[in-house]
Amino acid sequence: MVSLIKKEDASITEEATHPVLEHAGSGIPTPTLFEWNRPFFEGGIQGKLMLQRCTRCKQLIYYPRMLCPRCFSPDYEWEQLSGRGTVYSFAIVWRPNHPAFTDQIPVLLAVVELSEGPQMVSTLVGCAPDQVSIGMEVSVVFDTIAPDVALPKFVPQT
Ligand code: ZN
Repeated sequence: MVSLIKKEDASITEEATHPVLEHAGSGIPTPTLFEWNRPFFEGGIQGKLMLQRCTRCKQLIYYPRMLCPRCFSPDYEWEQLSGRGTVYSFAIVWRPNHPAFTDQIPVLLAVVELSEGPQMVSTLVGCAPDQVSIGMEVSVVFDTIAPDVALPKFVPQT
Protein backbone atom coordinates (compact mmCIF):
# COMPACT_ATOMS: atom_id res chain seq x y z
CA MET A 1 0.00 0.00 0.00
CA VAL A 2 1.36 3.39 -0.97
CA SER A 3 1.07 6.15 1.57
CA LEU A 4 1.03 9.69 0.26
CA ILE A 5 1.75 11.12 3.69
CA LYS A 6 5.12 10.84 5.34
CA LYS A 7 4.90 10.05 9.01
CA GLU A 8 6.70 13.28 9.99
CA ASP A 9 4.09 15.26 8.02
CA ALA A 10 1.12 13.63 9.74
CA SER A 11 0.57 16.40 12.28
CA ILE A 12 0.68 19.05 9.56
CA THR A 13 -1.83 17.10 7.50
CA GLU A 14 -4.10 16.57 10.49
CA GLU A 15 -4.09 20.30 11.14
CA ALA A 16 -4.66 21.06 7.48
CA THR A 17 -7.66 18.77 7.13
CA HIS A 18 -9.18 19.67 10.49
CA PRO A 19 -8.42 23.36 10.93
CA VAL A 20 -8.58 24.69 14.45
CA LEU A 21 -10.84 27.68 14.75
CA GLU A 22 -9.16 30.73 16.17
CA HIS A 23 -10.99 33.63 17.65
CA ALA A 24 -10.39 37.14 16.43
CA GLY A 25 -10.84 40.06 18.79
CA SER A 26 -14.53 40.23 17.92
CA GLY A 27 -15.05 36.68 19.13
CA ILE A 28 -16.07 35.52 15.66
CA PRO A 29 -14.39 32.21 14.80
CA THR A 30 -11.86 32.66 12.00
CA PRO A 31 -10.32 30.06 9.72
CA THR A 32 -6.74 28.90 9.99
CA LEU A 33 -4.84 30.07 6.93
CA PHE A 34 -2.68 27.76 4.86
CA GLU A 35 -0.99 28.17 1.48
CA TRP A 36 -3.91 26.33 -0.14
CA ASN A 37 -6.72 28.50 1.31
CA ARG A 38 -5.08 31.87 1.96
CA PRO A 39 -5.99 33.51 -1.43
CA PHE A 40 -9.66 32.63 -0.88
CA PHE A 41 -9.81 34.54 2.41
CA GLU A 42 -7.31 37.28 1.57
CA GLY A 43 -8.82 37.87 -1.88
CA GLY A 44 -11.87 39.30 -0.22
CA ILE A 45 -9.76 41.99 1.41
CA GLN A 46 -9.17 43.32 -2.13
CA GLY A 47 -12.78 42.66 -3.14
CA LYS A 48 -11.93 39.60 -5.23
CA LEU A 49 -13.77 36.28 -5.15
CA MET A 50 -11.00 33.74 -5.71
CA LEU A 51 -11.26 29.99 -6.30
CA GLN A 52 -8.76 27.36 -7.29
CA ARG A 53 -8.87 25.87 -10.78
CA CYS A 54 -7.26 22.48 -11.25
CA THR A 55 -4.54 22.77 -13.90
CA ARG A 56 -4.99 19.10 -14.84
CA CYS A 57 -8.77 18.66 -15.31
CA LYS A 58 -9.65 22.40 -15.37
CA GLN A 59 -12.43 22.09 -12.78
CA LEU A 60 -13.12 25.03 -10.47
CA ILE A 61 -12.73 23.92 -6.87
CA TYR A 62 -14.98 25.05 -4.03
CA TYR A 63 -14.15 24.98 -1.15
CA PRO A 64 -10.33 25.48 -1.12
CA ARG A 65 -8.42 22.21 -0.86
CA MET A 66 -4.96 20.73 -1.15
CA LEU A 67 -6.04 18.34 -3.92
CA CYS A 68 -8.57 18.52 -6.73
CA PRO A 69 -11.66 16.57 -5.58
CA ARG A 70 -12.23 15.34 -9.14
CA CYS A 71 -8.81 14.08 -10.24
CA PHE A 72 -6.74 14.40 -7.03
CA SER A 73 -4.13 16.57 -8.70
CA PRO A 74 -2.24 18.84 -6.27
CA ASP A 75 -1.72 21.41 -9.04
CA TYR A 76 -4.00 24.40 -9.26
CA GLU A 77 -4.08 28.10 -10.09
CA TRP A 78 -6.10 30.82 -8.42
CA GLU A 79 -8.77 32.47 -10.54
CA GLN A 80 -10.88 35.55 -9.91
CA LEU A 81 -14.58 34.95 -10.48
CA SER A 82 -17.32 37.40 -11.42
CA GLY A 83 -18.91 37.33 -7.97
CA ARG A 84 -22.35 36.89 -9.53
CA GLY A 85 -24.77 34.02 -9.09
CA THR A 86 -28.25 32.90 -8.14
CA VAL A 87 -29.79 31.53 -4.96
CA TYR A 88 -29.96 27.75 -5.36
CA SER A 89 -31.34 27.12 -1.86
CA PHE A 90 -31.58 28.87 1.48
CA ALA A 91 -32.58 28.49 5.12
CA ILE A 92 -33.42 31.04 7.77
CA VAL A 93 -31.36 30.43 10.91
CA TRP A 94 -32.90 31.72 14.11
CA ARG A 95 -30.60 29.98 16.60
CA PRO A 96 -26.88 30.92 16.37
CA ASN A 97 -24.35 28.10 16.44
CA HIS A 98 -21.89 30.39 18.24
CA PRO A 99 -22.52 33.25 20.71
CA ALA A 100 -20.61 35.70 18.50
CA PHE A 101 -23.38 35.48 15.90
CA THR A 102 -26.26 36.30 18.28
CA ASP A 103 -26.61 39.88 17.01
CA GLN A 104 -26.80 38.66 13.38
CA ILE A 105 -29.97 36.60 13.83
CA PRO A 106 -31.82 35.79 11.66
CA VAL A 107 -29.05 34.57 9.36
CA LEU A 108 -29.97 33.80 5.77
CA LEU A 109 -27.83 30.76 5.09
CA ALA A 110 -27.74 30.08 1.36
CA VAL A 111 -26.31 27.93 -1.36
CA VAL A 112 -25.36 30.29 -4.18
CA GLU A 113 -24.83 28.88 -7.64
CA LEU A 114 -22.03 30.98 -9.07
CA SER A 115 -22.18 32.10 -12.71
CA GLU A 116 -19.03 30.02 -13.31
CA GLY A 117 -20.74 26.85 -12.00
CA PRO A 118 -19.69 25.96 -8.45
CA GLN A 119 -22.22 26.11 -5.65
CA MET A 120 -21.00 28.05 -2.63
CA VAL A 121 -22.38 27.96 0.89
CA SER A 122 -22.64 31.52 2.11
CA THR A 123 -24.85 34.09 3.77
CA LEU A 124 -27.29 36.53 2.19
CA VAL A 125 -27.18 40.06 3.55
CA GLY A 126 -28.95 43.29 2.70
CA CYS A 127 -32.38 41.71 2.38
CA ALA A 128 -35.16 40.54 4.66
CA PRO A 129 -36.02 36.83 4.95
CA ASP A 130 -39.33 37.33 3.15
CA GLN A 131 -37.53 38.93 0.19
CA VAL A 132 -35.43 35.87 -0.61
CA SER A 133 -36.46 33.51 -3.38
CA ILE A 134 -34.93 30.59 -5.24
CA GLY A 135 -33.28 31.82 -8.41
CA MET A 136 -32.81 35.36 -7.08
CA GLU A 137 -29.78 37.02 -8.67
CA VAL A 138 -27.09 37.97 -6.17
CA SER A 139 -23.66 39.60 -6.13
CA VAL A 140 -20.77 39.04 -3.76
CA VAL A 141 -19.76 41.42 -1.01
CA PHE A 142 -17.07 40.82 1.57
CA ASP A 143 -17.24 40.85 5.36
CA THR A 144 -13.81 41.46 6.88
CA ILE A 145 -13.62 39.55 10.17
CA ALA A 146 -9.84 39.69 10.70
CA PRO A 147 -6.94 41.62 9.14
CA ASP A 148 -6.31 38.84 6.60
CA VAL A 149 -9.75 37.23 6.39
CA ALA A 150 -12.79 38.49 4.48
CA LEU A 151 -15.75 36.18 4.04
CA PRO A 152 -17.77 36.24 0.81
CA LYS A 153 -21.43 37.02 1.38
CA PHE A 154 -24.11 37.88 -1.15
CA VAL A 155 -26.58 40.71 -1.67
CA PRO A 156 -29.49 40.93 -4.15
CA GLN A 157 -28.44 42.35 -7.51
CA THR A 158 -29.89 45.74 -8.19
ZN1 ZN B 1 -8.62 18.08 -11.30
